[in-house]
Amino acid sequence: MAGSAKETKELLCEFLRAFYQRVWVSGTGGGICALDPDGNMLLAPTGVHKERVQPADFFTIDVRDGSVVKAAEDPALRPSECGAIFRAAILARQATSVMHSHALSSVLAADLAGDRDHVAIRDLEMLKGVRGVANRDTHLVPVIMNTPRESELTDQVEAALKDDRFAAAHTILVRDHGAYIWGADLWETKRHAEVYHFLFEAIVARNRR
Ligand SMILES: [Zn+2]
Repeated sequence: MAGSAKETKELLCEFLRAFYQRVWVSGTGGGICALDPDGNMLLAPTGVHKERVQPADFFTIDVRDGSVVKAAEDPALRPSECGAIFRAAILARQATSVMHSHALSSVLAADLAGDRDHVAIRDLEMLKGVRGVANRDTHLVPVIMNTPRESELTDQVEAALKDDRFAAAHTILVRDHGAYIWGADLWETKRHAEVYHFLFEAIVARNRR
């Protein structure tokens, strides 16, 4: 990850504002993280208006054990519940940044799985925007079941990350909830977030025809 921890936090705040405008992190839901130059995870707080998050609001988390290295300046803030899931994606997929979306398109796209544990995306030029995927590929995206607490999703997330059928996926859909989307760096996470939200919207719209 290029850039200092300060620059990375500023970029994370900028992306949260952009994602808020797209209605991907509204109602205080959703989240984002990225690794700092020391390899620690910079994690946004939970339960706050995402478009107003400031660099001082981030928690610094040890990726290996999840312990808090440095808390946010405001003692009233708590780290996002996404932390364990973000760490799982970072460790399993060599990601350095992960975003969590509560977009309606991700919820409706997960519905298309029916009884299956995935959705298949095909015949869309935008597939090229996912690293390693071509526009002729059938791209399988895992779909997991929602749980009462976000932290309880971690076992299902880890199983999906290990599943060879989903080796090309840079996202996991959670039924009735949203999506986790990651990349090799912050900019790739932003690109993948834009590409996957387009793909989710496309498969939902096509299914209506
Ligand atoms: Zn969530």
